[in-house]
Amino acid sequence: MARYTGPVCRLCRREGQKLYLKGDKCYTDKCPVARRTYAPGQHGQSRKKLSDYGTQLREKQKVRRYYGVLEAPMRKYFKMADKAQGITGENLLKILELRLDNVVYRLGLAASRAEARQLVIHGHFTVNGKKVDIPSYLMNVGDVIEVKEKSKNSPKFKEIQENHQGNTPSWLQVDAEKLSGKIVAEPSREDVDLPIQEHLIVELYSKNNIK
Ligand code: SF4
Repeated sequence: MARYTGPVCRLCRREGQKLYLKGDKCYTDKCPVARRTYAPGQHGQSRKKLSDYGTQLREKQKVRRYYGVLEAPMRKYFKMADKAQGITGENLLKILELRLDNVVYRLGLAASRAEARQLVIHGHFTVNGKKVDIPSYLMNVGDVIEVKEKSKNSPKFKEIQENHQGNTPSWLQVDAEKLSGKIVAEPSREDVDLPIQEHLIVELYSKNNIK
């Protein structure tokens, strides 16, 4: 399973905004985006005006990095979104929200999507009673996710249980005591809190004939 292993704060600085990739650090004044507002690298401080293509590309990269998704699956999700009924850009965000690693993070069962991904890969979760260890597994309305009985007593999940904030989005229901959650509705566009212009991604992939 391929994934990005480089420095993650650099990704936020490249996109010029917080992508919340490091959990708690993102909410402190140690966040490098707040301290250094220019892009990383030698030419970071001399940013040129972006072309239309460059703007579309940056928007797509931002979303990929936010959800921790590589290019090939992103293209696959775009094809799925394009075939589904409704607005393609919104469909794309809905699919990304329904990935298992994102659901774990949104339920507050991990501090970041990267941590959620690790916990899923290590087999700590069940979906509808069966072990699922694939971060890209797409969840459906009605699905119940739970930390495996054996894992519930681990220091990691004890800590999550004790410090759970309880601020889950309305399409999810969480039971912090039981370390479980349920998808009660499909995520809507308003549930995606990062400022995203998804139509730019649709324009980019449509231009490149990703269909
Ligand atoms: Fe790093 Fe989080 Fe700040 Fe991004 S938002 S730069 S991941 S601390």
